[in-house]
Amino acid sequence: PGEEVAAQAASLFKDSGSPTIFDKIIAKVIPSKIVYEDDKVLAFRDLNPQAPTHILIIPKHRDGLTQLSKAEERHKEILGELLYASTVVAKKEKLDDGYRIVINDGPQGCQSVYHLHIHLVGGRQMKWPPG
Ligand code: 5GP
Repeated sequence: PGEEVAAQAASLFKDSGSPTIFDKIIAKVIPSKIVYEDDKVLAFRDLNPQAPTHILIIPKHRDGLTQLSKAEERHKEILGELLYASTVVAKKEKLDDGYRIVINDGPQGCQSVYHLHIHLVGGRQMKWPPG
């Protein structure tokens, strides 16, 4: 049982990612416009908004989730928390006519910050297909 606990702890702290700007936002070392926060999730306004409402929803503990494609079984709970938090933020922002959730993954997905984040964009008519 001791080994099991140690393995769980090691897995919890395993994080292949280098620090990103989001670590400083979580630590409140650099300011951001926070719109929602709980013990697991932080949501703040994107510095370079692509729509009238553009919010990033991120896990406070990256735990190896540098990008969606790195998700493992243990991340199922936080993935649900992030998606659910997105709906709470969308309601708070009164995006009653709809909105878009985006996760950019890797170079072809145009990911630039390697700390998993959901983009919540809304407040204007979206187009499909995306670029
Ligand atoms: P990605 O391209 O990785 O999907 O999205 C990263 C997002 O983070 C971009 O939309 C970018 O504007 C945003 N971003 C990058 N640096 C900062 C920052 O220091 N503060 C805030 N609020 N957003 C940032």
